[in-house]
Amino acid sequence: MQTKVVKFGGSSLADAQHFRQVADIIKADPARRFVVPSAPGKRHKNDTKVTDMLYHCYEMIRNHENIDAFYEEIAERYNSIIRELGMNFDMSGELAYVKNAMLHASGRDYAASRGEYLNGIILAKYLGFDFVDAENVIFFRDNGSFDEERTNEVLADELRRHKNAVIPGFYGCMPNGTIKTFSRGGSDITGAIVARAVEADLYENWTDVSGFMMGDPRLLDNPPPIDTITYQELRELSYMGATVLHDESIFPVRYAGIPINIRNTNAPADKGTMIVSSAETYDTKRVITGLAGKKGFSVINIEKDRMNAEIGFGRRVLEILEDNGVSFEHLPSGIDTMSIVVATSALEGRRERILQSITRQVKADHVEILDGLCLIAVVGRGMVKARGTAARIFDAIYNAGVNIRMIDQGSSELNIIIGVNEEDYEKALVAIFNEFVK
Ligand code: ASP
Repeated sequence: MQTKVVKFGGSSLADAQHFRQVADIIKADPARRFVVPSAPGKRHKNDTKVTDMLYHCYEMIRNHENIDAFYEEIAERYNSIIRELGMNFDMSGELAYVKNAMLHASGRDYAASRGEYLNGIILAKYLGFDFVDAENVIFFRDNGSFDEERTNEVLADELRRHKNAVIPGFYGCMPNGTIKTFSRGGSDITGAIVARAVEADLYENWTDVSGFMMGDPRLLDNPPPIDTITYQELRELSYMGATVLHDESIFPVRYAGIPINIRNTNAPADKGTMIVSSAETYDTKRVITGLAGKKGFSVINIEKDRMNAEIGFGRRVLEILEDNGVSFEHLPSGIDTMSIVVATSALEGRRERILQSITRQVKADHVEILDGLCLIAVVGRGMVKARGTAARIFDAIYNAGVNIRMIDQGSSELNIIIGVNEEDYEKALVAIFNEFVK
C-alpha cells in the first residue's frame, strides 16, 4: 500500500466545518496515514490566527498584563471546535496546563507552538489516530539549526510503530529540552520531514488554493494553474516572491525524491499542482511554466578600460562586497564593464564605503549605483526545446514600450531574468504573460 503524508494549513483547520472536510479527505484514501496540522487559522478576513494570538499572549505576559480574558478567547477557539464537532472530549486540563506553563516563563517559541500542539490533539482524537508529539521526534541542535540526521532516525523509528498518526507541525525540541519553532509557516517543513522519514510516496500539502498559478493573480488576468512544476523551477519562482509553500520545506522531500502535491481543502476534486524532481516524466506543452517578479534591486555599474585583460578584477570587486556583508544576485558583464545586481536594502548604510572601496582598490574609471530596478523571472523547463523564447520575450516587452535594463539567462536554460525600471514592472509582466499564455 502507498503511504501519503498530508499536511493541512491553518485555514484548512480554522473551525469545526473545516475539520469535517479534512476528516473526509483523510478518510477517502487509506494511504493518507500521517497527518501534520497547523494551528487554527483565520475563519474570515478580519479574524486572527491562533499562532498570532499566542504570540500576543506571550507579549502580554512579558508586559505583566493580565491574560485571563485573552487566554479564554484562545481556549474558546479550541472548545468551539470540540463542541461543534460533538466530540466527547474535555480539553480544559490541557488548556490550563499550557496557560500555566506560559505564565512560568516557558518562552516565546513554547507559546507559539501550542497552537499546533492543541490542534493536533483534537484532530487525532477526531480521526481516531495516534498522537505523536513533535517534541519527542523533531530535534534542533544547540546552535538552533535543524538536526536532520537525529530527527530522521528517531522519527522513522517512532512512526514505524503507528498505522496512523497525527504529528503537530511547526516545532521540535532543543537539546536542553526546550521547545523551538521553525520560522513562520513552518508546518510545511514538518510535513516534508515526516514524508522523508516514512519514505512516503507522496507529500500532500492541503491549503486554500488549488495549487500554483502561472503568475500573480493580482497583476495578471486569470493566470492558469500549473499542473506540474519541477523543484528547480519552483525554487526560481519562489525566490522571486511567488509563495504558497515554505521555501525550506522543499529540501527534505526533494532530497528523498518524493513529489509534493499542493491541494485545495475547499475544492478537493481539483488536482492541484504536482512538484516533481525530474522534468522528463512530466512533459509540458507550455514553453514557460510561470513568471514572477520582485522590486527593490540596485545595480552597481563599474567601468574600466581593459578590464577584461586584468586577472582577478572580478574577485577583488566581489571581495569588497563580501567585506561589507552584501551578497549579489546577478552578475551580467561586458568586455570592460561589470554590473552587479544587489538588493537595495543590502546597501543601506554601506553605499559610500562600497563606492569608495571599488574606486580605490580596483582603480575603476567609473562606478555608479542605480536604484529602482525590478527583476522578472520567466521560468520554464520547456524553454530548452523551444527556439526563439528570448526573442519573443524581448519583442513583447519592446512592443509594450518598456526599456530592458538587464538580461541574464542561466546556463541551464531554465529561466531568463529581465531587469526593468520598477515603474514598468506590471506593463512588462503583462506583456510577457500575454505573449506566452493568453
Ligand atoms: N502556525 C504557524 C504560523 O502561523 C505555522 C504554520 O502555520 O505553518 O506560522
